[in-house]
Amino acid sequence: MTEKVALITGAGQGIGEGIARQLANDGFQVALSGRHLDKVQKVADSINENGGKAIALKTDVSVRDEVFAGVKEVADKLGHLDVYVNNAGIAHVAQLCNTDQAHIDSLMDINVKGTIYGIQAAAEQFKKQGTPGKIINASSIAGHEGFELLGVYSATKFAIRGLTQAAAKELAKDKITVNAYCPGIVLTPMWDQIDEEMGQIHNVPKGESLKQYLAGIALGRGEEPSDVANLVSFLASDKADYITGQAIMVDGGIKYV
Ligand code: NAD
Repeated sequence: MTEKVALITGAGQGIGEGIARQLANDGFQVALSGRHLDKVQKVADSINENGGKAIALKTDVSVRDEVFAGVKEVADKLGHLDVYVNNAGIAHVAQLCNTDQAHIDSLMDINVKGTIYGIQAAAEQFKKQGTPGKIINASSIAGHEGFELLGVYSATKFAIRGLTQAAAKELAKDKITVNAYCPGIVLTPMWDQIDEEMGQIHNVPKGESLKQYLAGIALGRGEEPSDVANLVSFLASDKADYITGQAIMVDGGIKYV
Protein backbone atom coordinates (compact mmCIF):
# COMPACT_ATOMS: atom_id res chain seq x y z
CA MET A 1 0.00 0.00 0.00
CA THR A 2 1.98 2.95 -1.23
CA GLU A 3 -0.20 5.95 -1.98
CA LYS A 4 -2.85 6.62 0.64
CA VAL A 5 -6.49 6.90 -0.41
CA ALA A 6 -9.03 9.35 1.00
CA LEU A 7 -12.76 9.42 0.28
CA ILE A 8 -14.50 12.77 0.78
CA THR A 9 -18.30 13.05 0.72
CA GLY A 10 -20.07 16.16 -0.57
CA ALA A 11 -16.93 17.04 -2.53
CA GLY A 12 -18.55 18.84 -5.46
CA GLN A 13 -18.33 22.31 -3.90
CA GLY A 14 -17.52 24.28 -0.76
CA ILE A 15 -15.59 22.71 2.10
CA GLY A 16 -15.61 19.20 0.59
CA GLU A 17 -14.04 20.48 -2.63
CA GLY A 18 -11.43 22.35 -0.57
CA ILE A 19 -10.61 19.22 1.42
CA ALA A 20 -10.34 17.08 -1.72
CA ARG A 21 -7.96 19.57 -3.35
CA GLN A 22 -5.82 19.83 -0.19
CA LEU A 23 -5.58 16.06 0.36
CA ALA A 24 -4.65 15.62 -3.32
CA ASN A 25 -1.87 18.19 -2.78
CA ASP A 26 -0.79 16.20 0.28
CA GLY A 27 -0.26 13.16 -1.99
CA PHE A 28 -3.46 11.24 -1.36
CA GLN A 29 -5.36 9.58 -4.16
CA VAL A 30 -8.76 11.14 -3.62
CA ALA A 31 -12.24 9.77 -4.25
CA LEU A 32 -14.81 12.54 -4.49
CA SER A 33 -18.37 11.52 -3.78
CA GLY A 34 -21.54 13.48 -4.20
CA ARG A 35 -25.18 13.30 -5.15
CA HIS A 36 -24.51 14.83 -8.58
CA LEU A 37 -21.85 12.91 -10.50
CA ASP A 38 -21.27 15.71 -13.03
CA LYS A 39 -20.31 18.14 -10.24
CA VAL A 40 -17.85 15.84 -8.46
CA GLN A 41 -16.47 14.66 -11.80
CA LYS A 42 -15.68 18.27 -12.73
CA VAL A 43 -13.69 18.80 -9.52
CA ALA A 44 -11.95 15.41 -9.95
CA ASP A 45 -11.02 16.33 -13.55
CA SER A 46 -9.54 19.61 -12.36
CA ILE A 47 -7.48 17.82 -9.66
CA ASN A 48 -6.20 15.34 -12.29
CA GLU A 49 -5.32 18.20 -14.68
CA ASN A 50 -3.26 19.74 -11.90
CA GLY A 51 -1.18 16.62 -11.30
CA GLY A 52 -3.30 14.96 -8.61
CA LYS A 53 -5.03 11.59 -8.71
CA ALA A 54 -8.81 11.73 -8.33
CA ILE A 55 -11.89 9.69 -9.14
CA ALA A 56 -15.53 10.69 -8.82
CA LEU A 57 -18.46 8.63 -7.61
CA LYS A 58 -22.16 9.17 -7.14
CA THR A 59 -23.34 8.59 -3.58
CA ASP A 60 -26.29 9.90 -1.62
CA VAL A 61 -25.03 9.62 1.96
CA SER A 62 -28.55 9.27 3.34
CA VAL A 63 -28.88 5.89 1.58
CA ARG A 64 -26.97 3.25 3.56
CA ASP A 65 -26.47 0.86 0.64
CA GLU A 66 -25.05 3.65 -1.52
CA VAL A 67 -22.54 4.59 1.19
CA PHE A 68 -21.32 0.99 1.51
CA ALA A 69 -21.28 0.61 -2.30
CA GLY A 70 -19.21 3.81 -2.55
CA VAL A 71 -16.56 2.48 -0.18
CA LYS A 72 -16.47 -0.81 -2.12
CA GLU A 73 -16.13 1.04 -5.43
CA VAL A 74 -13.17 3.01 -4.07
CA ALA A 75 -11.48 -0.10 -2.65
CA ASP A 76 -12.01 -1.93 -5.98
CA LYS A 77 -10.73 0.94 -8.11
CA LEU A 78 -7.90 2.30 -5.92
CA GLY A 79 -6.99 -0.85 -3.98
CA HIS A 80 -7.67 0.31 -0.43
CA LEU A 81 -8.97 3.11 1.79
CA ASP A 82 -7.11 5.03 4.50
CA VAL A 83 -9.14 8.14 5.29
CA TYR A 84 -12.90 8.76 5.16
CA VAL A 85 -14.20 12.31 5.44
CA ASN A 86 -17.88 12.55 6.37
CA ASN A 87 -18.29 16.07 4.98
CA ALA A 88 -21.67 16.09 3.20
CA GLY A 89 -24.33 18.05 5.00
CA ILE A 90 -27.26 20.38 4.58
CA ALA A 91 -28.62 23.36 6.51
CA HIS A 92 -32.14 24.68 6.92
CA VAL A 93 -33.11 28.03 8.41
CA ALA A 94 -36.32 28.10 10.44
CA GLN A 95 -37.65 28.74 13.92
CA LEU A 96 -37.48 25.44 15.77
CA CYS A 97 -41.25 25.49 16.37
CA ASN A 98 -41.88 26.06 12.65
CA THR A 99 -39.56 23.41 11.28
CA ASP A 100 -41.64 20.97 9.27
CA GLN A 101 -41.23 17.23 9.33
CA ALA A 102 -39.76 16.96 5.84
CA HIS A 103 -36.88 19.26 6.77
CA ILE A 104 -36.33 17.56 10.15
CA ASP A 105 -36.17 14.22 8.35
CA SER A 106 -33.74 15.34 5.66
CA LEU A 107 -31.44 17.04 8.20
CA MET A 108 -31.36 13.88 10.30
CA ASP A 109 -31.08 11.56 7.27
CA ILE A 110 -28.18 13.41 5.65
CA ASN A 111 -26.23 14.99 8.53
CA VAL A 112 -26.67 12.32 11.21
CA LYS A 113 -27.55 9.03 9.52
CA GLY A 114 -25.21 9.79 6.61
CA THR A 115 -22.35 10.16 9.07
CA ILE A 116 -23.29 6.97 10.92
CA TYR A 117 -23.33 5.03 7.63
CA GLY A 118 -19.99 6.55 6.69
CA ILE A 119 -18.42 5.52 10.00
CA GLN A 120 -19.84 2.00 9.63
CA ALA A 121 -18.74 1.53 6.02
CA ALA A 122 -15.26 2.98 6.53
CA ALA A 123 -14.63 1.01 9.73
CA GLU A 124 -15.73 -2.21 8.02
CA GLN A 125 -13.30 -1.58 5.16
CA PHE A 126 -10.37 -0.67 7.46
CA LYS A 127 -10.96 -3.82 9.52
CA LYS A 128 -11.15 -5.96 6.35
CA GLN A 129 -7.83 -4.51 5.22
CA GLY A 130 -6.33 -4.95 8.69
CA THR A 131 -4.86 -1.45 8.42
CA PRO A 132 -5.17 1.66 10.59
CA GLY A 133 -7.68 4.22 9.38
CA LYS A 134 -8.86 7.73 9.99
CA ILE A 135 -12.47 8.91 10.03
CA ILE A 136 -13.02 12.67 10.02
CA ASN A 137 -16.49 14.13 10.54
CA ALA A 138 -18.02 17.57 9.90
CA SER A 139 -19.36 19.17 13.05
CA SER A 140 -19.56 22.97 13.49
CA ILE A 141 -19.58 25.87 15.92
CA ALA A 142 -23.27 24.94 15.87
CA GLY A 143 -22.23 21.62 17.38
CA HIS A 144 -21.08 23.48 20.49
CA GLU A 145 -23.86 26.04 20.81
CA GLY A 146 -27.42 25.91 19.54
CA PHE A 147 -27.91 28.77 17.06
CA GLU A 148 -31.26 30.48 16.65
CA LEU A 149 -33.00 29.69 13.35
CA LEU A 150 -30.62 26.74 13.00
CA GLY A 151 -32.06 24.60 15.80
CA VAL A 152 -32.38 21.25 14.05
CA TYR A 153 -29.14 21.83 12.14
CA SER A 154 -27.41 22.54 15.47
CA ALA A 155 -28.85 19.32 16.91
CA THR A 156 -27.37 17.34 14.02
CA LYS A 157 -23.95 18.93 14.60
CA PHE A 158 -24.10 18.17 18.36
CA ALA A 159 -24.89 14.59 17.33
CA ILE A 160 -21.71 14.46 15.27
CA ARG A 161 -19.64 15.13 18.39
CA GLY A 162 -21.38 12.31 20.25
CA LEU A 163 -20.87 9.92 17.37
CA THR A 164 -17.23 10.96 17.05
CA GLN A 165 -16.54 10.24 20.73
CA ALA A 166 -18.37 6.89 20.80
CA ALA A 167 -16.81 5.67 17.55
CA ALA A 168 -13.35 6.77 18.72
CA LYS A 169 -13.73 4.68 21.88
CA GLU A 170 -15.08 1.63 20.06
CA LEU A 171 -12.63 1.66 17.16
CA ALA A 172 -9.39 2.56 18.95
CA LYS A 173 -8.50 -1.13 19.38
CA ASP A 174 -8.51 -1.44 15.58
CA LYS A 175 -6.15 1.56 15.26
CA ILE A 176 -8.92 3.63 13.74
CA THR A 177 -9.07 7.25 14.90
CA VAL A 178 -12.23 9.33 14.69
CA ASN A 179 -12.18 13.10 14.93
CA ALA A 180 -14.31 16.05 13.85
CA TYR A 181 -13.71 19.55 12.51
CA CYS A 182 -15.85 22.45 13.70
CA PRO A 183 -15.82 25.33 11.22
CA GLY A 184 -17.34 28.76 11.86
CA ILE A 185 -18.76 30.92 9.07
CA VAL A 186 -17.35 29.44 5.87
CA LEU A 187 -18.02 31.34 2.64
CA THR A 188 -19.60 28.50 0.67
CA PRO A 189 -22.94 28.00 -1.13
CA MET A 190 -24.32 26.77 2.23
CA TRP A 191 -23.83 30.23 3.75
CA ASP A 192 -25.31 31.91 0.64
CA GLN A 193 -28.43 29.85 1.36
CA ILE A 194 -28.41 30.56 5.13
CA ASP A 195 -27.96 34.30 4.50
CA GLU A 196 -30.84 34.37 2.02
CA GLU A 197 -33.21 32.38 4.25
CA MET A 198 -32.34 34.43 7.36
CA GLY A 199 -32.81 37.61 5.34
CA GLN A 200 -36.32 36.52 4.36
CA ILE A 201 -37.27 35.79 7.99
CA HIS A 202 -35.78 39.05 9.36
CA ASN A 203 -36.77 41.07 6.29
CA VAL A 204 -33.23 42.33 5.70
CA PRO A 205 -31.40 42.52 2.35
CA LYS A 206 -29.17 39.77 1.00
CA GLY A 207 -25.74 39.87 2.65
CA GLU A 208 -26.94 41.54 5.85
CA SER A 209 -27.26 38.39 8.00
CA LEU A 210 -23.86 37.15 6.87
CA LYS A 211 -22.37 40.57 7.67
CA GLN A 212 -23.67 40.36 11.23
CA TYR A 213 -22.18 36.92 11.75
CA LEU A 214 -18.85 37.97 10.20
CA ALA A 215 -18.64 40.90 12.62
CA GLY A 216 -18.30 38.42 15.51
CA ILE A 217 -15.12 36.76 14.22
CA ALA A 218 -11.99 37.69 16.20
CA LEU A 219 -9.63 37.26 13.25
CA GLY A 220 -11.75 39.69 11.25
CA ARG A 221 -12.59 37.77 8.11
CA GLY A 222 -14.88 35.06 6.83
CA GLU A 223 -13.55 31.51 6.72
CA GLU A 224 -12.39 29.95 3.46
CA PRO A 225 -12.74 26.23 2.64
CA SER A 226 -8.92 26.10 2.66
CA ASP A 227 -8.92 27.12 6.35
CA VAL A 228 -10.94 23.99 7.12
CA ALA A 229 -8.95 21.87 4.68
CA ASN A 230 -5.71 22.76 6.49
CA LEU A 231 -7.06 21.23 9.70
CA VAL A 232 -8.38 18.16 7.88
CA SER A 233 -4.99 17.80 6.19
CA PHE A 234 -3.40 17.55 9.64
CA LEU A 235 -6.08 15.19 11.00
CA ALA A 236 -5.61 12.93 7.96
CA SER A 237 -1.84 12.84 8.37
CA ASP A 238 0.44 10.65 10.49
CA LYS A 239 0.99 13.70 12.68
CA ALA A 240 -2.49 13.16 14.12
CA ASP A 241 -1.95 9.47 14.94
CA TYR A 242 -2.29 10.10 18.69
CA ILE A 243 -5.46 12.22 18.46
CA THR A 244 -8.88 10.62 18.64
CA GLY A 245 -12.41 11.48 19.75
CA GLN A 246 -11.85 15.23 19.38
CA ALA A 247 -14.02 17.92 17.78
CA ILE A 248 -11.58 20.69 16.90
CA MET A 249 -12.63 24.30 16.37
CA VAL A 250 -11.47 26.07 13.22
CA ASP A 251 -13.51 29.28 13.30
CA GLY A 252 -11.16 32.27 13.42
CA GLY A 253 -12.21 32.96 17.00
CA ILE A 254 -15.97 32.72 17.48
CA LYS A 255 -16.39 30.06 20.15
CA TYR A 256 -13.84 29.24 22.80
CA VAL A 257 -14.21 25.72 24.16
P1 NAD B 1 -22.25 23.17 0.77
O1 NAD B 1 -23.73 23.19 0.77
O2 NAD B 1 -21.55 24.26 0.07
O3 NAD B 1 -21.73 21.79 0.21
C1 NAD B 1 -22.24 20.58 0.74
C2 NAD B 1 -22.10 19.47 -0.28
O4 NAD B 1 -22.72 18.31 0.27
C3 NAD B 1 -22.81 19.79 -1.58
O5 NAD B 1 -21.97 19.46 -2.67
C4 NAD B 1 -24.04 18.90 -1.55
O6 NAD B 1 -24.47 18.47 -2.85
C5 NAD B 1 -23.51 17.73 -0.74
N1 NAD B 1 -24.61 16.93 -0.20
C6 NAD B 1 -25.74 17.37 0.40
N2 NAD B 1 -26.53 16.34 0.69
C7 NAD B 1 -25.90 15.22 0.26
C8 NAD B 1 -26.22 13.85 0.26
N3 NAD B 1 -27.39 13.39 0.73
N4 NAD B 1 -25.31 12.97 -0.24
C9 NAD B 1 -24.14 13.41 -0.74
N5 NAD B 1 -23.79 14.70 -0.80
C10 NAD B 1 -24.67 15.60 -0.30
O7 NAD B 1 -21.78 23.11 2.29
P2 NAD B 1 -20.38 23.44 2.97
O8 NAD B 1 -20.45 24.79 3.53
O9 NAD B 1 -19.27 23.06 2.05
O10 NAD B 1 -20.44 22.42 4.20
C11 NAD B 1 -19.78 21.16 4.23
C12 NAD B 1 -19.93 20.56 5.62
O11 NAD B 1 -19.39 21.45 6.58
C13 NAD B 1 -21.40 20.34 6.02
O12 NAD B 1 -21.50 19.16 6.79
C14 NAD B 1 -21.70 21.55 6.88
O13 NAD B 1 -22.74 21.30 7.79
C15 NAD B 1 -20.37 21.76 7.56
N6 NAD B 1 -20.17 23.12 8.03
C16 NAD B 1 -20.27 24.20 7.20
C17 NAD B 1 -20.10 25.47 7.70
C18 NAD B 1 -20.20 26.70 6.84
O14 NAD B 1 -20.12 27.81 7.39
N7 NAD B 1 -20.34 26.62 5.54
C19 NAD B 1 -19.80 25.66 9.06
C20 NAD B 1 -19.71 24.54 9.88
C21 NAD B 1 -19.89 23.28 9.36
